[in-house]
Amino acid sequence: MAEESFDGKAAIGFQKTTLMDYPGKVASIIFFPFCNMRCPWCHNGDLILGRNAAGAKALTPLDEALSSVAKRRKALGGVVLSGGEAALYPRLPELISFIKRQGLAVKLDTNGTTPDLLESILSSRETRPDYVAMDLKIAPARYAELLPKTDEGGHPLGSKIAGLVERSAAIVRASGVEHEFRSLRLPEPYFTEADVEALRPLAGGSVWNFRPLVRGKCLDPAWNQ
Ligand code: SF4
Repeated sequence: MAEESFDGKAAIGFQKTTLMDYPGKVASIIFFPFCNMRCPWCHNGDLILGRNAAGAKALTPLDEALSSVAKRRKALGGVVLSGGEAALYPRLPELISFIKRQGLAVKLDTNGTTPDLLESILSSRETRPDYVAMDLKIAPARYAELLPKTDEGGHPLGSKIAGLVERSAAIVRASGVEHEFRSLRLPEPYFTEADVEALRPLAGGSVWNFRPLVRGKCLDPAWNQ
C-alpha cells in the first residue's frame, strides 16, 4: 500500500522535537501562523503576523513537516498543533485525522475562540485530539481588550468573545479528553486575583497550570521592560 501523504502547502513553523510541549511524550510541534487575538505579551509576534516561526528558522511547507514526522514516527509519541491559533487552520480536522492514522497522538493548543470547531472535532473518534490545552487569559468580561482592532474600530468577535471562551471551556471540560487550562501570571493590572476568581468556573476541577511571563520577545515592546 502506498504511504499516505497530506497535501498541505500551508507555511507553518516546525520544530522536529520537543520534550516540553506534550506532557509525557516526545513530540514534534507545528506552529500555525496567524491568530485572532493580539495579546500584547505574545512571544510569537512574528508568527501571528505570518512572518516567521517561534523556535524555527523559517516557515516550512506543512507537507514537508509531515513527511519529517512520518519518517520519525517510531521515535515520536505525538504531534502538538500550536500557533498562533491552530484552530484557524481550515483543514484542522483532516490534519488531526491524518496524524492519528500514523499512530501518533495529537495535542491541540487553543485560545478557545472556536467552540463550534472544538465541539465538532471532539465529537468524532477520527478527529478528536488526544490532549487539549486551552488558554485562560484574563477575566472573561475583559477578553475583548485582547482583540485586534479593525479599521472600523471593532472586531468581528467583539463582545461575543467572552461567551465563546466560556463555551469552549465547558466543551473541553466535558469532552472526556485529557486536558489542561493554562494561564500566564501577568503583572497587575492585567492579571489580578479578581481575574483568577472570574476564571475559576471555566477551569472547574480540571488541571489549571500557571506559567511565568517570558519577556524579551513580546509583541508589544513595552512588555519587554
Ligand atoms: S492567543 Fe496566543 S498566539 Fe494568539 S496573540 Fe495571544 S498569546 Fe499570541
